[in-house]
Amino acid sequence: MAEIVLDKVTKKYPDGALAVNEVNLEIADGEFVILVGPSGCGKSTTLNMIAGLEDITGGELRIGGERMNERAPKDRDIAMVFQSYALYPHMTVFENMAFPLRLAKVDSTTVKSKVEEAAKILDLSPHLDRKPANLSGGQRQRVAMGRAIVRSPKAFLMDEPLSNLDAKLRVQMRTSVSKLQKRLGTTTVYVTHDQTEAMTLGDRVVVLRGGVVQQVGAPQHLYEHPANLFVAGFIGSPA
Ligand code: ADP
Ligand code: MG
Repeated sequence: MAEIVLDKVTKKYPDGALAVNEVNLEIADGEFVILVGPSGCGKSTTLNMIAGLEDITGGELRIGGERMNERAPKDRDIAMVFQSYALYPHMTVFENMAFPLRLAKVDSTTVKSKVEEAAKILDLSPHLDRKPANLSGGQRQRVAMGRAIVRSPKAFLMDEPLSNLDAKLRVQMRTSVSKLQKRLGTTTVYVTHDQTEAMTLGDRVVVLRGGVVQQVGAPQHLYEHPANLFVAGFIGSPA
């Protein structure tokens, strides 16, 4: 069964802007899907509707077979990481990552093992006692990711998580992101405007333009068989 289903999901902002127009998408359990497209094409709006941060104005969103449209963000069991992330400056890396588990009153033995597991995958084990101020930008973003996934959410959403980092670091961080997703097997939707990121990270890529899906497919398929000139031009394949 598909874990996340968008059935003609539409977003019309109060000012009349049609940001997302009847998007259909089925994301399987454990799948890693990338939403890509130029600025303003509706990527963030789509992700925010999945998270419950924006109302859906048309169509239906289902997660695990249940309608989510009216459900509050906190009742969706979804974790999200943004481009700009806020770590607690007075807390260590360990305590930052442990925070959601402490809130959920998880016992301290489990907290320790969950945080240590996430730290290992994210190459943060040597830094658990540091404060955020003493970390690099890439390390801080990895802490934010670790904090998001320690609760083992049903789905993990990321909105341009690497775009604040310099080019070299972005390439290194791609490895961390894909390692994290493969190890945990969490259903993931990742938004980027960066074609290379889109073509190297996920199982499937969704190309958006003007709130409308242009094509959905494996990176190789999109490259070899772009549905139209826009897709060909955008992902740089020989049309
Ligand atoms: P992306 O993340 O792909 O850059 P967005 O989802 O942020 O695109 O925006 C899609 C469209 O919706 C754009 O035309 C944008 O101007 C518009 N939009 C985004 N947020 C709002 C808002 N709060 N109110 C009105 N229009 C918005
Ligand atoms: Mg955006």
